[in-house]
Amino acid sequence: MIRLENLVKDYGTVRAVDSINFEINEGEILGFLGPNGAGKSTTLKMITCYLNPTAGSISVENYNVAQHSEEIKAMIGYLPETNPLYLEMTVYDYLKYVANMRNIEGNEFEAAFKTTIKKCGLKEVVAKPIHTLSKGYKQRVGLAQAIIHNPKILILDEPTSGLDPNQIVEIRELIKELGKEKTVILSSHILQEVQALCDRIVIINKGKIVADGSQAKLTEDYSNKARLILQIDASKEDLSQISATIPSAKLVSFKPILNNFNEAIFEYTPTNDVRPDIFNYIKEKDWTLLEFHRDYISLEEVFRSLTLEGGNQ
Ligand code: ADP
Ligand code: MG
Repeated sequence: MIRLENLVKDYGTVRAVDSINFEINEGEILGFLGPNGAGKSTTLKMITCYLNPTAGSISVENYNVAQHSEEIKAMIGYLPETNPLYLEMTVYDYLKYVANMRNIEGNEFEAAFKTTIKKCGLKEVVAKPIHTLSKGYKQRVGLAQAIIHNPKILILDEPTSGLDPNQIVEIRELIKELGKEKTVILSSHILQEVQALCDRIVIINKGKIVADGSQAKLTEDYSNKARLILQIDASKEDLSQISATIPSAKLVSFKPILNNFNEAIFEYTPTNDVRPDIFNYIKEKDWTLLEFHRDYISLEEVFRSLTLEGGNQ
């Protein structure tokens, strides 16, 4: 439903977004992950029609940002990186102001207000000036201004940055709830955040998309190492012999566990599956196995390897 095609943004001579392509389907919660300066905010500002692309196109349903920015803005709720609050206003006055800007007035506003404060857990603070609220509550107000017009799409730029651990959990829960009824794009430089919230992850680095897929798919696609974990009654010397006999299986870890058993980890290239060879070797030696299982590398390792080299964090 949202499609970015060969999207480019230059700031003077700096190419902040470098010909990116991806699609977001209806109902998806997409994590837009990348280190600082990767181009996340710039991309989100173009989708929300706050910045014009240098080249390429963005379409939202059947509308194109170049011709139909008003229609697109009406479909999107946006929480920018710096929460755009008027601190002297009360929560009620601020939401009324935001709603009026979107031509939601009178009874229509009262109904939208009621639904919104319920969803965002703001009931107790509606009469309070925003500057008196905690950071977590301010962020709830930020989310409230983004959903007051009941948009189908929610775009959140680093929505938990600057919050304390408890507030982070609360805001994530809220985003999860909102994600049940909306398409959500959420940017973050924190892997755990997108892991906790998102169906799909797009990783951007230096203006380029370097990965796109579900967590499981990314880990599988981008890992160039697989691990085989054994619990076995063989010694370190015995196991080193496996590496000597099957050179592509490298013994990378060894530790005693219980009785005569040890835990050993072999690394190998997934395209050259050494598991049958190792299994046959063990069978021939008549060793006893308690465990024999494969492990993929973690998404954390994938993220680091995709964004660290010459990275800008
Ligand atoms: P992110 O949100 O991933 O941290 P940004 O989209 O903010 O990244 O920035 C991408 C790149 O564009 C960075 O190199 C940043 O310094 C540059 N940049 C962002 N905004 C501007 C601007 N208004 N003028 C010039 N350069 C900018
Ligand atoms: Mg940013």
